[in-house]
Amino acid sequence: MRVLGIESSCDETGVALVEAAATGVPVLRADALHSQIEMHRAYGGVVPELASRDHIRRVIPLATAVMDQAGARLADLDVVAYTRGPGLAGALLVGAGVACALGAALGRPVLGIHHLEGHLLSPFLSRDPPQFPFLALLVSGGHTQLMRVEGVGRYELLGETIDDAAGEAFDKSAKLLGLGYPGGPALSRLAQQGDPAAFKLPRPLLHSGDLDFSFAGLKTAVLVQAKKLGEGLEARKADLAASTQAAIVDVLVRKTLAALDMTGLQRVVVAGGVGANALLRAQLDAACARRRVRVHYPELHLCTDNGAMIAMAAAMRMQAGVQAPAARYAFDVKPRWPLQEISPAA
Ligand code: ATP
Ligand code: MG
Ligand code: FE
Repeated sequence: MRVLGIESSCDETGVALVEAAATGVPVLRADALHSQIEMHRAYGGVVPELASRDHIRRVIPLATAVMDQAGARLADLDVVAYTRGPGLAGALLVGAGVACALGAALGRPVLGIHHLEGHLLSPFLSRDPPQFPFLALLVSGGHTQLMRVEGVGRYELLGETIDDAAGEAFDKSAKLLGLGYPGGPALSRLAQQGDPAAFKLPRPLLHSGDLDFSFAGLKTAVLVQAKKLGEGLEARKADLAASTQAAIVDVLVRKTLAALDMTGLQRVVVAGGVGANALLRAQLDAACARRRVRVHYPELHLCTDNGAMIAMAAAMRMQAGVQAPAARYAFDVKPRWPLQEISPAA
């Protein structure tokens, strides 16, 4: 079974081809991505209308490149999948429109995939795929959630952020420090030259007794420190970046350990853009190794948005027995869509 996946929920256009047998982990055959980061940089954030227009320009050439890479023809496809939500409505509609047009032209089923399910299952694209069940730490630009994952489509929310997401905390703090966009990679790069203990920053909800997160207060604390430093900020920027990163990572690691205690799960999967963070990986690996708990990550380039995770999620849903509707080629996107509302896989 060959599945084409199209991702266009925000500022990355991704297309990929995954091949799946009836059982076993599906295999990535080809993968192409265009990031709009350069285009949005001048505005300091994603401009939705520009994002939609750029997806339109990129998606067909990317799909053509993927088919070429895989040495496959469109007629070889068995399923076409796209990101149905959550995300920017106009951006989502581009992927949905192309997927439905392809499906209608080829007479193939079209499957709308939840973007976060894509992130969650992206570690299955790595050389060392996890096994169910596992604890998932989903840390992206828009979400910070801990989940018990029993199987494809079986996701139980254990805790989540009550305000900003971890990626947002990175991005907003980076902006306050005058670092580039997107801020996560820039802040963590600068943090390498700083002292993580230089500034005492809050670790919100660390002792709340539940598995929720809060990062809005941290951003304010960074702002207060930056203002206090005034002209002296430039000389202490690396220290403040390192202290900020340490605070975010500390909370993520300790809440993950608390979730392991509460659930008794023996495996952790990290997904989403912040999963690319080197300090998070090092600290989580060290803490989990002490408990003999395995941690799985997506390949570095598959932490942020991509088409491969959408094709993968679709392939795994099909393997789990999901029937793609045969002739439903209506445009269908869900800009707001809690993961818990998706249909179970089997
Ligand atoms: P969502 O998936 O919740 O809709 P999104 O798709 O925008 O949000 P992702 O693409 O998964 O999010 O991740 C982007 C986020 O990851 C950004 O906030 C970015 O700053 C952050 N990020 C990427 N690399 C790193 C890194 N090395 N360290 C910290 N943060 C990072
Ligand atoms: Mg992005
Ligand atoms: Fe994402």
